[in-house]
Amino acid sequence: MSKSLPSVYDAEPIPAAARTAIDALLASGDLFRYTAPEDAPVALLEREFAELLGTKYALAVSSCSAALFLSLKALGLPRDARVLIPAFTFAAVPSSVVHADCVPVLCDVGENYRIDMAAFEARLDEEIAAVIISHMRGHTSDMDAIMALCDARNIPVIEDAAHSLGTTWHGKNIGTLGRIGCFSFQSYKLVNAGEGGILITDDADLLAQAVIMSGAYEHNWRKHGAMDTALEAAFARWQNRLPLYNLRLSNLSAAVIRPQLPLVAERVHKGRRNHDYVAAKLVQSPWMAVPEKLAPEARAPDSLQFNLIGLTDEQTTAFALAAARRGVKVQVFGMSTDNARAFWNWQFMPGPLPELPRTRAMLMRACDVRLPARLERDALDAVAEALLAAIAEVKPVAALKAG
Ligand SMILES: *Cc1c(COP(=O)(O)O)cnc(C)c1O
Repeated sequence: MSKSLPSVYDAEPIPAAARTAIDALLASGDLFRYTAPEDAPVALLEREFAELLGTKYALAVSSCSAALFLSLKALGLPRDARVLIPAFTFAAVPSSVVHADCVPVLCDVGENYRIDMAAFEARLDEEIAAVIISHMRGHTSDMDAIMALCDARNIPVIEDAAHSLGTTWHGKNIGTLGRIGCFSFQSYKLVNAGEGGILITDDADLLAQAVIMSGAYEHNWRKHGAMDTALEAAFARWQNRLPLYNLRLSNLSAAVIRPQLPLVAERVHKGRRNHDYVAAKLVQSPWMAVPEKLAPEARAPDSLQFNLIGLTDEQTTAFALAAARRGVKVQVFGMSTDNARAFWNWQFMPGPLPELPRTRAMLMRACDVRLPARLERDALDAVAEALLAAIAEVKPVAALKAG
């Protein structure tokens, strides 16, 4: 009865071109980015990524979390500085704030998974020293309003674009709107290297600090490629004045990432097509809603989020079980024990956990289904049919009415 159900947990396959580069690296043993005097794979990746995104500078590091941590350190935030972050994000984000000796402050998120702007404005008081905008699952918050509020108060904005590679806002790349943008190459992101991250910025002073702290000891920063005068001056200014956290990326990872960069545009196109195709089927049910994107946003989804409407906790659990029985794994962010995206589980944060009933209510009904770019039409149909059959099993009367 069920059509071919895809294994949505497989990551994106690595292009064959990576193999040649990896073989050469294994033969030479040249895995460290600073062994070669110039043009190491990591340095080439940085140049190509900056070009792809349209920024002056890029620094590849061991993860997006490392990029977020280095961003906060490069901003020179004092100990216990308060950093505003959305209450719907991955635990790595408040963790990076704690790692940088700062204090995360959570901002409510609406049913559309985006920062609630009234809550944001209310939270943006004199005590907030920096803001991290986490575009969770690639859902872009209102960056016009956020940048206007933060610019007016001279508060730096870091974009956590871990899941937003290829997303645009008014045609501009997400990750280039704030002072710094951070991306992930972990396997469940658009570009898969297992692990890895990169930060981008146009600010020479921030870049120089992040490069040194990432582990460019002595004069290894010279191996980051061609340098403008602003960058030369910044490296001279910070030489020997910063700790080395050693969060570098290996040449092997860069060799896996580089051949995937030319594939980003096609993955974005297919991911958006897949998302919109399945979303259009799901909203035929009165019990499922897919929040609209904001008007300036062009998305790059590799997963689908939707809200269950009018279901009790028991029905929500029953729906997830019914979908699983049909071969589709649905994560309801707030319903699974110890979920890393549920803010009440971030007990490592200093002070008492906030209440945030609005974000909590959203998390209790928000469903997450992976929908990789490589899926084709019959796989998408199978996913949609499984979800619709699961909801019809839990809410049979309305399904009859709707049908
Ligand atoms: C994956 C992810 C991270 C963490 O990225 P790592 O590279 O695994 O450190 C942070 N924020 C968001 C929104 C993510 O999706």
